[in-house]
Amino acid sequence: MRVHEIAKKLNMDNKVLVSELKEMGMVIKSALSSLDEETSQQVINLFTAGKTARGVTSQPVTPKKKKISLAFSSRVSDLAKIIGIKPAELIKTLFSHAISATINQQITEEMIKHISSIYHLDIEISIPEKEKEEIEEEASFLQSRAPVVTIMGHVDHGKTKLLDTIRQANVIDTEAGGITQHIGAYKVKLKEGEVVFLDTPGHEAFSAMRARGAHVTDIVVLVVAADDGIMPQTVEAIDHARAANVPIVVAINKVDLPGVNKEKVYKQLADNNLLAESWGGKTICCEVSAKQKIGIDHLLEMLLLEAEMLELTANPNKKAQGTIIESRLDKGKGPVATVLVQKGTLHKGDAFVDGTSYGRVRAMFNDRNERINSAGPSTPVEVVGFSKISLAGDLFKVVEDTKKAKQICLELQENEKVSMEKLPTRITLNDLYLQIKEGKVKELDVIIKADVGGSVEVLKHSFEKIGNKEVKIKVIHSGIGEVNESDIILASASNAVIISFHLPLKGDIKTLGQTYGVDIRSYNIIYDVTNEVKKALEGLLEPKYKEISLGIAEVREIFKASKIGIACGCYIKEGKVPKGNNARVIRNDKLIVETRMISLRRFKEDVNEVMAGLECGIGLEKITDVQVGDIIEIYTQEKIIQKL
Ligand code: GDP
Repeated sequence: MRVHEIAKKLNMDNKVLVSELKEMGMVIKSALSSLDEETSQQVINLFTAGKTARGVTSQPVTPKKKKISLAFSSRVSDLAKIIGIKPAELIKTLFSHAISATINQQITEEMIKHISSIYHLDIEISIPEKEKEEIEEEASFLQSRAPVVTIMGHVDHGKTKLLDTIRQANVIDTEAGGITQHIGAYKVKLKEGEVVFLDTPGHEAFSAMRARGAHVTDIVVLVVAADDGIMPQTVEAIDHARAANVPIVVAINKVDLPGVNKEKVYKQLADNNLLAESWGGKTICCEVSAKQKIGIDHLLEMLLLEAEMLELTANPNKKAQGTIIESRLDKGKGPVATVLVQKGTLHKGDAFVDGTSYGRVRAMFNDRNERINSAGPSTPVEVVGFSKISLAGDLFKVVEDTKKAKQICLELQENEKVSMEKLPTRITLNDLYLQIKEGKVKELDVIIKADVGGSVEVLKHSFEKIGNKEVKIKVIHSGIGEVNESDIILASASNAVIISFHLPLKGDIKTLGQTYGVDIRSYNIIYDVTNEVKKALEGLLEPKYKEISLGIAEVREIFKASKIGIACGCYIKEGKVPKGNNARVIRNDKLIVETRMISLRRFKEDVNEVMAGLECGIGLEKITDVQVGDIIEIYTQEKIIQKL
C-alpha cells in the first residue's frame, strides 16, 4: 500500500504521516512510497491504536517490529534480500550510518543493530547446529580437562592391583563413609588436578572401543612387572596404544620384590622404542609397587604432567557429549549406564540419544555413589533413565528435547549405524586398489602373525620394500603365535589386514574376523605373501564372489507385458524374493539362461518383495525363452575375502 492510501484510511495528512513514519526509522521518501502488506497493516493498527491511546495518554505506541530470522553466517547480500531491498541500497544505508560494508561481507552485530532500528525489524540470528558446534569449540570457550587413563600390560603384571591401590588411596574416609562404587571408571582428585581411570584394564577393551569409533583414552599406563619384564601382551599393548596414537607412561611394577633387575626392564623398553627419560629418552617411567603402595603419588603426578603437555581441553558450557563406558540392568533403577562426559555438561533432566536408543537423565550418581545434578567434561557418571542396555563405546549425546531424541533415534535405527553386528567392513586386499584410487588409503596397515620370529622379521623387511609412491605398508603389530581376538580387534580399530603365516587359522577366529569385517589371510610361502600384497597394490587381485540364493519361483503362466515383452506368472516356492537381483531360468535341471529380474508385481502393483507361498508376476531382462514349469532362481553375489 502506498503511504498516501494509508494516510487516507487513517484520515491523516500525508506529510504528517510521512514524517511520523520517518521518525520511527522507516525509509520513506514521500507519500508515494510503497509499504508491503504486513507493514501497511501494522502502521494502520498502530495509528488507529495511537489515536485511541492519545485520547487517554499522549504516549506514542511503538509499532510491532517485523520478525526476521537470519543464519549466523549470512552475508550483506542475504540480509538485503530478506529485507527486500537491493544490496547497493543496504550498503548505502549502512554507509550513512558510518558502517562500511561490501556485498559479500558477513553481517556483523553492529550492522544488525543499525539495520534493526532503521528498518524497524526484530532480527533473530539463528545458528545452524554444525556452526554452533564449531563456535562452541572455539579456543575462548575451552577449559582444561582431566586426562582419561587406561591401564594396559601383560596378565598378572598388576593392572587390577594398581587400579585398586590408586582408587583406595583416593577415598577420603570422611566422604560417604569411603564407599566407592564400581561404575567402570573413577576420578582421582589430587592437589594439582584430577585424573580419570577407566576400570577395565587391557588393550582389548581399549581397541574394542576404538573399533566402535569411540576415542576416550588420553594416556595409556603400561604396567610392566619388574620381575617378569616385557612379555608378549606387553608388546601387544604397546602396539595397540601406538596404533591409536595415544602416549604411553610406563609403570614398572612390583619393585618391592627382592632382587628384581630394573635395568633389564629399561633395556627391554628401549628395544621397543620406549626410551626412558633416565636413559636419555622421552618416555616417562615410574617405578611403583601396587602392593606396597610405593611410587603411586609420583605416577599420578607424572600423569598430570603428561596431560599438561597434551593440553587437553573441552567446552563445559554446551550440551553434553560422551561415550558409554559400561551398561547394566539395575533391579531398582532399570537400565543404567556409565557415561564418560567428554564435552559440555550433563544435567539432570537432559534428553539424550545413545546408540540406537534415547532417554532422559532421571538421576545421576558419581563414582562415590553420591547423587549429583550435573557433570562436566572428563567426568564418569552413572546415568539412570535409559530405555535399554547400551553398548560400551556407544556415543552419548544430549539433544534439545525427547521429541528430537526420538526422531534422531529412529533415523539411526533406520541406518543401523551404531549396531555392533553391523561394524563396517574394513579394508581388504581385494578392494585396496580401489580405495587407493579413490584417495581413501595412503597407508596399508598390516598385522603379521607367524610361527617363528625369523619369518616375522623377513615379512616385515619385505613389506618395507613393497610399498610404492601412492601407498606405504606399515606393520602396526607383529608377533609369534596364532591370530587371536586382540589382533582382530586391533585390525578392526585401525583398519588393518592380518597376515597369518605358517599357522593354522581356527574356525572361530575366522568367524570373529568376519564379525569385525577384518581381512585375515593365511599363507605358507613368503613369496605368496609378498606377491599377493604387490598384486593388491596394483589392483590385480581379482575378487571372488559367493552366491547367496534369495528364492525359488515356479513359472505357472506366461503373459504378454507391454513394456518388457513377456512376464511370468509365478508361485514363490522358497525364500523371500526381493525385486531386482540376478535370476537364472532352469528347465529340467538344465540352465536355460542367466539374466536379471527387472520387475516384480502382485495384482498389477509393483512390490519390493514377495514371500514364499504367494503368487506374483516376474519380469526378466531380455528373455524370450521361458516356459510354464520352468524354475526361476533368484540370487545375489557377495564379495568374499580370498583365503589361500
Ligand atoms: P593383572 O592380571 O595385570 O590385573 O594383575 P593383578 O593385579 O591381578 O596382579 C597379579 C598378581 O600380582 C596378584 O597376586 C597381585 O597381588 C600381585 N601384585 C600386583 N602388584 C604387585 C606389586 O606391586 N608387588 C607384588 N609383590 N605383587 C604384586
